[in-house]
Amino acid sequence: MEKMKWAKPCLHCGSTDIVWSDCGYSSFNCGTVRCEGCGFELKLDHLGCWPEKEIRSIWNAQKKKAIARLKKLRKEVEELEKILGDDA
Ligand SMILES: [Zn+2]
Repeated sequence: MEKMKWAKPCLHCGSTDIVWSDCGYSSFNCGTVRCEGCGFELKLDHLGCWPEKEIRSIWNAQKKKAIARLKKLRKEVEELEKILGDDA
C-alpha cells in the first residue's frame, strides 16, 4: 500500500492517513483505498492507466457524493411529507 498524496479527510473519522494499492494490470485494473485511521475501505475496479489519480479523485469525491445524496434524500422527505401530510 502506498500513502495517498493530497487525500481529503476520511468521511468516517476525519483522518488523512489514506493508503492505496492497485493490481497493476494494464486492463481490468482494480484497486483498494483504505483509511488507516478507522479501517474504512473502498474497493474499486475498472481503473485505467493512472490508478493513483483515479483512486484519489474517487476518494476525494466521496464527500461531494454524500452531500448530493443528502440533498436528494431531503427532497424526497419533503415530497413524502407533502403527500402524507398530518398522517406522517
Ligand atoms: Zn477513517
